[in-house]
Amino acid sequence: MDVFACPCGGRRAIVADISDRNVVVAILAHLGLPTEAPPMARARSPAFELA
Ligand SMILES: [Zn+2]
Repeated sequence: MDVFACPCGGRRAIVADISDRNVVVAILAHLGLPTEAPPMARARSPAFELA
């Protein structure tokens, strides 16, 4: 998969690399998005879906 390929046929370019946790949290909070990962769900057997 070429992540730089654009549907318009052009090439995408990296404009920013946001890896600082505090910066990421600030941006997400500003956008009203969750800043913490959702809790892990318990594993369930396939039979659970049929119940
Ligand atoms: Zn494009």
